[in-house]
Amino acid sequence: APIIVWFRNDLRTGDNRALSTGSRTGVPVIPLYILEDEEDGSATLGSAQKWWLHHSIEALASRLASMGTPLILRRGRALEVLHSVVSVTGARTVLWNRRYLPSHLARDAEIQQALQIDGVTIESSEGHILHEPTQMRTVSGGPYRVYTPFWRAFSSGMEPRPPLARPESLMPIGMSLQSDRLEDWGLLPNGPDWSAGIAAQWTPGEDGAITRLDAFLAKRLAGYGEDRNVPSIDGTSRLSPHLAFGEITPFQIWHATEMSRDEVPTADLQTFRKELVWREFSYHLLVNCPDLPTANYNSDFDKFPWREPGDLLSAWQRGRTGYPIVDAGMRQLWQTGWMHNRVRMIVGSFLVKHLLIDWRHGEKWFWDTLVDADPASNSASWQWIAGSGADASPYFRIFNPILQGEKFDPTGEYVKQFVPELADIPAKYIHNPWEAPASVQSEAGVRLGETYPRPIVEHRRARERALNAYHAMKGK
Ligand code: FAD
Repeated sequence: APIIVWFRNDLRTGDNRALSTGSRTGVPVIPLYILEDEEDGSATLGSAQKWWLHHSIEALASRLASMGTPLILRRGRALEVLHSVVSVTGARTVLWNRRYLPSHLARDAEIQQALQIDGVTIESSEGHILHEPTQMRTVSGGPYRVYTPFWRAFSSGMEPRPPLARPESLMPIGMSLQSDRLEDWGLLPNGPDWSAGIAAQWTPGEDGAITRLDAFLAKRLAGYGEDRNVPSIDGTSRLSPHLAFGEITPFQIWHATEMSRDEVPTADLQTFRKELVWREFSYHLLVNCPDLPTANYNSDFDKFPWREPGDLLSAWQRGRTGYPIVDAGMRQLWQTGWMHNRVRMIVGSFLVKHLLIDWRHGEKWFWDTLVDADPASNSASWQWIAGSGADASPYFRIFNPILQGEKFDPTGEYVKQFVPELADIPAKYIHNPWEAPASVQSEAGVRLGETYPRPIVEHRRARERALNAYHAMKGK
């Protein structure tokens, strides 16, 4: 009987345990992708990721076709689709790579049970993350809550396995199966096409991921420790969306950095791996605390006096807060589907502390606009910024957006790229244009309140208000 390989968060053919296992059996393989219509509404992709998914499936389908087998596309409830493919083809085995969103874990367990009753076996493999979140435990037996010991466990003794080779070819089933047309799934923008800026930056799919990895290893891993903090430099790997869709695995990345060990400074390699392990830590938190995306990890924050979002939230979303580094970040996100990590921290802190807006509004906006939106990293990072998370940055540490700009974008190059209306402001005032003498503003063609907004809150006052809100929550 043929074997079904159900592709989910693993849109790749290399280092894909389910696919490799299927190809080795010597029987026909049916690669299947299901656009799941589940009633719980979980994991509904944001707009930017729908665009990405369309192109990633296209890339996967073309790769699989060149290996000998078409990718079958079906929309519907996963169990019903699987039942139907099983009954038409007589398949007795479904292979998949595990996914870790709590609602996915529950759904997969249900599917496994239901298919077993029909005599269909599921084989579930690892691949999306380097560790199994329910198995990795502290010495006292519980899940980790603090990053440093989690990292220590990784760096001492846990050597991730080497990646698996891509199967050379797959045996087709020899009958034609019903498959949807990708175009009919409506994943691309309908209406104004906002995707040009994203398309200019990214190549979804496995080949795009490998190209990014190779370029990173060749040009950016040496120096990563310093360059990763400078948003005007292309100093990071930009592998995040490829990881989010499983076009590349952390095993492949870890192993590739190991191969570069002799050519790059150890400190850079370690710093990069520590970042990869933040992703692991986020999954660890999510699996062990399933409501991480919606509820405060630290329930003290349930009493936090958040303000109604209103116009302030839309000013933040549109990059019109009057703080140039914040606005540059939010516009980079809108235009390219990605934002530099340092700037994510600055805009996140600004929303939660300067504007006193609940982190869940920020998380939601990021979810809709990021190409790398990831249920674990997004919610863990937002809670980290808000101070409500595990091992979080304390709430009372409030980033000053002017000083952060001066420190990480001293020449203003990053700001000028995304906030062109400030292009002619001298570097000295690029992060606080309202303090530039009137003559400097007018020479630069800037009329605050007209060509560029005045700050929507005053830093010092906002800081004080945030601290008061925090003390109110603490009952002090
Ligand atoms: P690199 O610096 O090259 O890092 C390599 C990889 O390590 C990344 O691709 C990513 O998988 C992982 N990584 C790096 N930093 C972190 C981190 N702080 N937490 C978890 N994993 C990390 N990352 C996402 O992948 N999806 C999200 O939805 C997401 N939302 C975020 C929201 C906020 C408020 C903040 C502050 C950070 C968020 N991050 C998120 C983490 C981080 O900003 C991105 O992973 C990183 O900017 C991606 O760029 P890169 O691939 O070039 O990273």
